[in-house]
Amino acid sequence: MKTQLHFLIPVFAALLCLPAFSQIEPGSGVLHCAAKGGCRHGLIFKNSERKLYGYDVKYLRFNLNIDPAQEIIGGSVLTRFEVSGDLSQGLEMELSTAFTIDSVVFNGSRINFNHSGDYKLVANLPNPQLPGAVAELEVFYHGIPPEGEGFGSVGRALHSDVWAMWTLSEPYGCRDWWPGKNDLTDKADSIDIFVRSPEIYRTASNGLLISEDLADGYRTCHWKHKFPIVPYLIAVAVTNYEVYSEMSYSAGTPVEIINYVYPENKAAIMQQTAQTAMIMELFSDLFTPYPFIGEKYGHAQFGWGGGMEHQTMSFMGRFDFEIIAHELAHQWFGNAVTLNSWQDIWLNEGFATYLAGMSYQHFFDGYWWPRWKTLSIGFVTSEPGGKVFVDDTTSVSRIFSPRLSYYKGALLLHMLRWKMGDDAFFAACRNYLNDSRLNYGFAGTSDLKYHLEAVHGKDLTGFFEDWYYGEGFPSYHVKCNQLTSNDYRVNITQSQSHPSVSYFEMPVAVKFKGADRDTTIVFEHILNDQSWIIYPGFKIDSVFIDPDQWLVSANNTYELINKSGDVDIYPNPSTTQMRLIMSAEPESIKIFDLSGREMPVDFIYEGSGVTLEVGLLRQGYYFIRYVVEGRTGVVKFIKN
Ligand SMILES: [Zn+2]
Repeated sequence: MKTQLHFLIPVFAALLCLPAFSQIEPGSGVLHCAAKGGCRHGLIFKNSERKLYGYDVKYLRFNLNIDPAQEIIGGSVLTRFEVSGDLSQGLEMELSTAFTIDSVVFNGSRINFNHSGDYKLVANLPNPQLPGAVAELEVFYHGIPPEGEGFGSVGRALHSDVWAMWTLSEPYGCRDWWPGKNDLTDKADSIDIFVRSPEIYRTASNGLLISEDLADGYRTCHWKHKFPIVPYLIAVAVTNYEVYSEMSYSAGTPVEIINYVYPENKAAIMQQTAQTAMIMELFSDLFTPYPFIGEKYGHAQFGWGGGMEHQTMSFMGRFDFEIIAHELAHQWFGNAVTLNSWQDIWLNEGFATYLAGMSYQHFFDGYWWPRWKTLSIGFVTSEPGGKVFVDDTTSVSRIFSPRLSYYKGALLLHMLRWKMGDDAFFAACRNYLNDSRLNYGFAGTSDLKYHLEAVHGKDLTGFFEDWYYGEGFPSYHVKCNQLTSNDYRVNITQSQSHPSVSYFEMPVAVKFKGADRDTTIVFEHILNDQSWIIYPGFKIDSVFIDPDQWLVSANNTYELINKSGDVDIYPNPSTTQMRLIMSAEPESIKIFDLSGREMPVDFIYEGSGVTLEVGLLRQGYYFIRYVVEGRTGVVKFIKN
C-alpha cells in the first residue's frame, strides 16, 4: 500500500516535474483488531497468542452482486476448509453486523449460526468434525457496507457522473465486505470471484479474467486466481472501466499487464503505465521472476488517493513512476512473501519503498536517486525518535506510519546493503524470496535476518537492536587534523538523537577533497572517539561525511585543522596534556599567560612532537613560544 505521501514524480519520456514534498498521515482511525499479533521478545513470535480458528482455508468462491450506484453488496462466499482443530464450539468467521446474514450452508445443508457484535460469526457445525476432514461452508448475506475503519474497506466515488466502488481491506477490513477468516496465518490456495453488476460496469480483480457474460442487462465477470492469497489482498473494483493491455518480460517470460482505467483518464494513464514493463524487468533481474507468472499483473484505477497492491491487480489512485514501482514491488514483498504479523509491516512497506527508490537509481540516477535519498533521510530524521518495529498493532496510523514503516524501513534495507555490499545483500534477498518455508506463505523479521546473516557470515543482532527495535539516529563529528605534510589524524565521534541506542556501529564513508583531487575512505566506526591516521597524499581543504548517503544520520559536522607554519597543536582546548607536532626537536618551549607571566611547564620530545603537561595550569588563554631549527613562533591555546 502506498498512501498520499510521495516525494518525486518523474514522468515518462523525460518530462520531469517536482511536486511539493507532502507529509500526509494515512488513516488516523484507531481500531481494535481481531488479527492483532502477539507479544514479541527479541525476534521470537509467540504463536500461541494467535487466535485459534481450528480450520485451514483451502479455497474461496465469491458470488457477489455489486451495484456501485446502489452501494449494496450481496451474495455469498463459500469457504472450503480442512479441519485442523476443535470445532465443537462452532466455526468462527468475521463479518460486520452492518450485513444481514440470510443463511449459512454447511456441505449443502442449512445450519444455525450466531452473528454478534465484534464482527463475530459462529457457524454451529454438526459434531464431530474430525481433523483432516475437508468441508464447505457458504455464507449468504447482503447489506450496505459499514463506513469502515482503517482505509475505508469499501469505497465509492463518482467520476464523470459514473459511480466507482472498490474494496481495500488492509489491514483488518475484509470483515467489512465478506465473511471469512481474516488473519495472517492462512492463505487460500486459490479463489474464484464472480461479480454481477449492471451491464455498464466491469469488475477488476485478482488473477485471470475467465469470462464476462451479459444477460438481462447485467454483466458477470469471473476472475480466477490459482496462487495462495492472504485475505487482505483479495479485492474487487467496479465501474465503467476501459481496458488495455501491455507486455513485459520477467526473466524472459512474457507477462501481460492489464490496465482497468476510467475512460476519461485513459490517454494520460497510458503514458504512465508504459513504465511498468521496464520496472518489472528490473525487479525480476535484481530479485526473482515475477511471482505470478502464468497469470498477469494489472492496475485498476480507483478513487482512493494512494495505491494498494492487491495480488496481481494493484488498485491505483494515481499513476506516477514511484507508485507504479512501489505497488509492483509488493507483488514480491508482501504478496508472494507476506508478513506474519502487522508488527513487521516494514517487510512489506520498507521493501516496496526501497524498491521504488532503487527504480530511481536504475532509471533516473544523477538527480532523482540522490534526491530520493536526501528526502528520505531528511524525513526519517525529522523527529528524534521512533522505531521500525510496531509496538501497537491496534493503531492503523502507527502500522502505516510513512516515516517509520515506509521510509525508515526502506533506509534500514539501504544500510544493510551498504554494510553487506550489493552482491551479498541481493543474494540474501533472493534466498529469502526463494525459501520454500516462506514463498507463497508468511515471514517475520527473524526470517529475513536469518537469510541476511547466512550470506553475510556475521551476526546482525546488534544492527537490528539499534535500527529496528531502537530509535533515533547518530550525528557524526569528524575531526581531521594534519600531522605532517603527508598525513592526517581523523577522529570520529557520534551523538545519538534518542537514548534507546547508546551507539550506532556502522561503516562511515568520509570524502576528503583537495585542490584538484579527492579520496573517499570508509571507517569501521565501532567505538566513540575513534582515531585513524590517513595518508591522502594531498592537502585537504574540505571534508564530506557519508557523501553517497548510505546512513540515516543528520546534523553532521566536521573540523579541519591544517598545519600552519612549523607546529600543529591538539587537543585545543586541552585539560591535562597536549601535543605540539613539530618538524624537529625544539630548542626551547615557554608558556605565558595573557599578562605575560611565564608558567612552569614540563615537556618531552618524542615521535614527531612534544607532549606538554598542562594539568596544573588554571583555566584560561595561554601562549606557547617555541624555538625550533632556529626559528621562533607563537601559538595560542585554551586550558579548560
Ligand atoms: Zn506499500
